[in-house]
Amino acid sequence: MILLKNGRIIENNKIIKKDILVDEKIIDINDNISGDYEVIDLNGKLVMPGCVDVHVHFREPGFINKETIKTGTMAAAKGGFTAVMPMPNLNPYPDNLEHLNVEMDIIKRDAIVDCYPYGTVTVGEKDVEASKIAEIAPYVKAITDDGVGVNNLEPLESQMLIAKKYNLVIASHAETLEGKYAPEGEYVAVRREIELAKKTGCKYHFCHMSTKESFEAIRKAQKEGYTNITCEVAPHHLVLNEEMINGNPNFKMNPPLRSEENRRATVEALLDGTACMVASDHAPHTEEEKSREYDKCPNGILGLETMIPIIYTNFVKTGLIDLNRFQDILINNPIKVFNLPKRSLNVGEVADLIALDIDNEHLYTKEEIVSKGKNSPYIGNKYYGFNQLTIKNGKIIYNNLGGKHE
Ligand SMILES: [Zn+2]
Repeated sequence: MILLKNGRIIENNKIIKKDILVDEKIIDINDNISGDYEVIDLNGKLVMPGCVDVHVHFREPGFINKETIKTGTMAAAKGGFTAVMPMPNLNPYPDNLEHLNVEMDIIKRDAIVDCYPYGTVTVGEKDVEASKIAEIAPYVKAITDDGVGVNNLEPLESQMLIAKKYNLVIASHAETLEGKYAPEGEYVAVRREIELAKKTGCKYHFCHMSTKESFEAIRKAQKEGYTNITCEVAPHHLVLNEEMINGNPNFKMNPPLRSEENRRATVEALLDGTACMVASDHAPHTEEEKSREYDKCPNGILGLETMIPIIYTNFVKTGLIDLNRFQDILINNPIKVFNLPKRSLNVGEVADLIALDIDNEHLYTKEEIVSKGKNSPYIGNKYYGFNQLTIKNGKIIYNNLGGKHE
């Protein structure tokens, strides 16, 4: 058993001091616990349940020079995530059970946090032939053709009906073929997919939304009562805009950074609840790929190791988001939307915990990155709220309390 002394937790939207005793489960949370246990002094760190990131690219099987399930889940543990949902743009694509098994075997062998893999909507994400949802349904929570937009609406509509039958979420990388990268490429796709989601009633989740018009369309549908339609926003669309790109490959991702007006709309959507969660779109590439000139380098930036501090520093510390909402957008809402196992900081619950340093600013450096990729636009920035300790099922899987990275 591990005794976490002098931590702080969130209770009724306030931060209060508590000791926490954990085994595989949370044994006790109290003002002062003592006993003959392994003791870790948290010195005021903020303890929360492990966070959930529903949008990560771990590149395995298929592209292990960029990331692996091992390095990806290690980055998750460092960042403060104990559950992640790896995207299916892999080789092979998890579009049938045989292919999904390749990924699941590696997860079983190498993952140090919970991984809930996505299946694909269409075979090979080619937007033509429907993938075998019935086969993979028992093993996945959601399906997506992330990385490419769905432009052939027929397989999508029939897959929505099947997904509904199996209670799977369809996550959409909304993008029209014609409009690729332009704001209208996103919101035109969003508008037409909303109509299909209304018609079929399928749980439909829009990934990494980034334009004012997309949020307007989603907000309107939600106001009409379509609670099956949800969306996420990514940290980079909340805090960066297109004026910051300056040809730097570490500022290149898809959807791209948008205008300041669209960035503000993204913030507004998170604040008013149109977007009920943040997801990192963690997308590692090799240093060689990301050292090419801007037009020739692949889309994608790292996200797992910086998402919590970016949200904490920009939204919680500034008072834009309260502590309850902080936990909702990083833990409770992803769990609710994607039907994942519940986690909370209560006696008897699984001991998946993190401990954030909210008192000290930390300079984020390239050297500390755990992911195989080093493609982060945040290197050299300072944030509050970096995770210092991750406990999974009662075992320490990340510990920086000694302050190597201070
Ligand atoms: Zn995407």
